[in-house]
Amino acid sequence: MAETSMHIALAGNPNCGKTTLFNLITGQNGYVGNWPGVTVEKKEARLSSDKGVVVTDLPGIYSLSPYSPEERVSRDYLMGDEPDAVIQVLDATNLERNLYLALQVIETGLPVVVALNMADLVEKNGDRIDVPALERALGCPVVLISALKNTGVDDLLETAKRSAARKAAPKRHAFDAAVDGVLERIEHQLPARVPAAKRRYYAVKLFERDAGAAASLALDAAAAERIEQLVAACEADCDDDAESIITGERYAVIAHIVDECLHRAPARMSTSEKIDRIVTNRWLGLPIFALIMFGVYYLSISTFGTAMTDWVNDNLFGEGWELFGAAMPSVPALFEGWLSAAGASDMVISLVCDGIVAGVGAVLGFIPQMFVLFVLLSFLEDCGYMARVAFVMDRVFRRFGLSGKSFIPMLVSTGCGVPGVLATKTIENEKDRRMTVMTTTFIPCGAKLPVIALVMGALIGDAESTWIAPLFYFLGVVAVIVSGIMLKKTKLFAGRPTPFVMELPAYHMPSARSWALHVWERVSAYIKKAFTIIFASTIVVWFLSNFGVYEGAFGFLPAMEGIPEEFTNYSVLAAVAGAVSWIFAPLGFDSWQATAMSVTGLVAKENVMATAASLLHLAEATETDPSLWSAFAALFPSVGAIAAFGAFNLLCAPCFAAMGTIRAQMGSAKWTAIALGYECGFAWVVGLLINQFYLAAQGVFSLWTVVAVVLATGMLFQLFRPMPKGAWDDEAVSAPAARPQAAR
Ligand code: GDP
Ligand code: MG
Repeated sequence: MAETSMHIALAGNPNCGKTTLFNLITGQNGYVGNWPGVTVEKKEARLSSDKGVVVTDLPGIYSLSPYSPEERVSRDYLMGDEPDAVIQVLDATNLERNLYLALQVIETGLPVVVALNMADLVEKNGDRIDVPALERALGCPVVLISALKNTGVDDLLETAKRSAARKAAPKRHAFDAAVDGVLERIEHQLPARVPAAKRRYYAVKLFERDAGAAASLALDAAAAERIEQLVAACEADCDDDAESIITGERYAVIAHIVDECLHRAPARMSTSEKIDRIVTNRWLGLPIFALIMFGVYYLSISTFGTAMTDWVNDNLFGEGWELFGAAMPSVPALFEGWLSAAGASDMVISLVCDGIVAGVGAVLGFIPQMFVLFVLLSFLEDCGYMARVAFVMDRVFRRFGLSGKSFIPMLVSTGCGVPGVLATKTIENEKDRRMTVMTTTFIPCGAKLPVIALVMGALIGDAESTWIAPLFYFLGVVAVIVSGIMLKKTKLFAGRPTPFVMELPAYHMPSARSWALHVWERVSAYIKKAFTIIFASTIVVWFLSNFGVYEGAFGFLPAMEGIPEEFTNYSVLAAVAGAVSWIFAPLGFDSWQATAMSVTGLVAKENVMATAASLLHLAEATETDPSLWSAFAALFPSVGAIAAFGAFNLLCAPCFAAMGTIRAQMGSAKWTAIALGYECGFAWVVGLLINQFYLAAQGVFSLWTVVAVVLATGMLFQLFRPMPKGAWDDEAVSAPAARPQAAR
């Protein structure tokens, strides 16, 4: 390990390009996302060009206030760990908004170098920034760079190292004379041990009545009281609250700087703005999003992907296949051949071929679909489109009391629910955060693709089922919205939506490297899971379904004397799953096999498919049609029951990993139970409605029809009744007093 001589921190607004810069100068492969807050943690790595320098990528923030976890992480690092220098990254195309944080970072008294990033875009827009004037105005070095195009970055690093070596504190910015006077008097009240460079920062924080800063200073009571008097007097004079006074002063300084240093090209609409006029249009935004997602799922599941997966299932794992006219054996046949040649017992052959190869193979067969899905989704994320969708959804979500911020975890969940649930960290309002944790895994993740495909194949047969797959995706979105509307009207979740602020990056072609990285990250996680969790699960399922009691004796069932061909009916799995399958009887699928699939699906969603493949493979001998789809469909009494099975498995509690994340995120056993209970209950009700209304349409009625009608009426009532009185007023919005406005 090289000796560390210097620490440099990267600070900046979300989406200003910190991570791009960090990856460039450290050679790391961190995730470059287009939305804020997905990584709340800071990241550290050594500079590639100088191993003695450690660089820290801080989470993107708008202000050094202590309102969100990202803000706290960044602030604690800057004030507590004292980096030798800070590179304050600014999106130069968004100077006003980015200077708000820059002024505060400069105030900390740490050596700051401003990196004016996105120089390429500034140039393309025809704007000009007067760098020397900006250096004078900010009182610290300013370097124009493009992290994407790698220009100006070496100069930036040299400047930062020089500033760190000289401990060059930037100058302070003058506020209105009256406010400055008060700040100066507050500085006099600070303990003597606060160094000169930091006194201004603490004075401003105390003026803002920032409890965290006050606590870290351990002021004596007399000083604290004196300061409160000064602040209160100033508030009375200015007829405004302290926090707003400071915000106003900062914007005044910024307006002056921008006026002096930024020479804008005559206004003309950028390409991004033109695209946004259509894509984020009040009326078109949502239909366009629906259409795009339809296209994504259509391409990945219904057409191209299915063709690939079918080929894999039918040939590699089914009948065998041809290579340039030569007959090749299927994978199970291959293994069977090897094992028999090696003299393995029937039991081992069955475990390997019917258990592991069938189960893991069925899951691996979905890699082509997964690949296409992630290529498309990653493109939509990286080019900047998905960030717009959060805005479009903000309009919808706001109606029922959630903000677009809750949509970001859902977008992340299209890949995997674990980071999706983690992404809720940034939602400040506790009720909204809990509700988002509860509902975000309704969105189908990659692992649910096999479930969708299995159900789809069983419902429609093969390729013509073009619209079913996107339909299951929309079922997830509708489940989120319906749950949101219903839950917001209960006491547990009532409250006004938090304001939604987010930077919109200009549309751009993602770099091939980060795109490929993004896809690989997701696909490799899926492959890894197939060889670990799914592998282990298939072994357990194989044992449970091959061992059992027949005529009073326990043992390996296929080897038992006189056992019927459907030997799995005597297995431990059949007994255990059969004991609880009554739960699903009203949903139409009370076969022990379907129950076993649903239960193993709680370990990992791919298990629904793996268990199906393993169980049906065993029963294959009795099937005339070798296709997995029809063998699976034969387990259900009707099409309605198959759809109910699909809906239940997509909406019920997620896999173990996601459940663990929900537990960690909720931080309470009670709330975890509420979340998982709600998910399972909601899934069960949706399954019930689907099956019972299907049966009713066929003229089949029972007591459960009545239950379904009552439940449906109750849901409709909760959906359409007006917001209960007072539900939106009983909670102070915990958002900062003033924040830069949303881009639109
Ligand atoms: P962070 O949120 O500050 O970490 O920002 P990211 O590094 O994730 O970058 C946000 C977006 O801006 C990404 O889509 C980057 O590709 C893009 N970006 C970063 N730096 C530049 C740059 O210098 N020029 C252009 N045109 N785009 C950039
Ligand atoms: Mg980042």
